[in-house]
Amino acid sequence: IKEDKMMEITGSYEFKYLALTYNDIYEVNTANEAMLRYQAEHDPLTGIINRGAFEQLKRLFQIKLIPLAFLIVDVDKFKQINDGYGHEVGDLVLKKVAELLQDSFRATDYPARIGGDEFAVILTNLTEDQKDVVERKVQEMNDQLTHPKDGLPQVSLSVGAAFSEKGFTEELYRQADQALYEVKEHGRCGCRFYKEDGTEA
Ligand code: GH3
Ligand code: MG
Repeated sequence: IKEDKMMEITGSYEFKYLALTYNDIYEVNTANEAMLRYQAEHDPLTGIINRGAFEQLKRLFQIKLIPLAFLIVDVDKFKQINDGYGHEVGDLVLKKVAELLQDSFRATDYPARIGGDEFAVILTNLTEDQKDVVERKVQEMNDQLTHPKDGLPQVSLSVGAAFSEKGFTEELYRQADQALYEVKEHGRCGCRFYKEDGTEA
C-alpha cells in the first residue's frame, strides 16, 4: 500500500480476499485521479489545455531552454458572432478554432485556450528560419475559417508571434502580444512576428 501499487494475490484466503478488494478500490481511485487531473488541465468547451495548465507549461519551458515559437491567437470581431448568431453558435466557432489549432500543429506543440476568444500555442524546437511554416499554417486556418463548409459563420484569426532561442520568458509573451496588437491595428486576419525594430508583416 505504501508503494502505491496493486497488491499481489497471495497467502491465505483472507489475505487474497483483502488484496482483491484493495486492488478493485485502487483501480477506481486511479481512474478517478486521472479524470480529475484531466478536468483540471483541460477547457471543458474546447477540450484543449486550459489557462492553468498553460501556466504550468510556461514554467516547464522556463526550465527547459529549447528554441521555440510562441503564438497568441485571437478571434477577430468575435463579439459580433455572439451578437449576430447567439452564444451557442459562438461556442461552436470557438470549438472549431481549437480543433483547427490542434490539427494544424504537431503533436509536440501545445495549443491552449487562455481566455474567452484568446488562444496561445507553444511550438517546440522551432527557429526563426521556419517563419514561413507558421505563416502558412495561419493562412490555411484563415482560409478554412473564411470559407466555411459546415454552416458556421465566417470568422478569422489574428496571430502575434515571437521566437525564443532559449525557452519561454515573460518578455516573449510581451513580444507576441505586441505583434498581435499590430495585426489587430492593420486589418486583422493574419500573422505578424515580433522584431526589435517594429513587428514584421
Ligand atoms: P477583436 O477583433 O478586437 O478581438 O474583437 P472581439 O469582438 O473579438 O473582441 P474581444 O476579443 O474583446 O471579444 C471577446 C468576446 O468573447 C467577448 C465575450 O463575450 C466572448 N466570450 C468569452 N468567452 C466566451 C465563451 O466561452 N463562449 C462564447 N460564445 N463567447 C465568449
Ligand atoms: Mg477577439
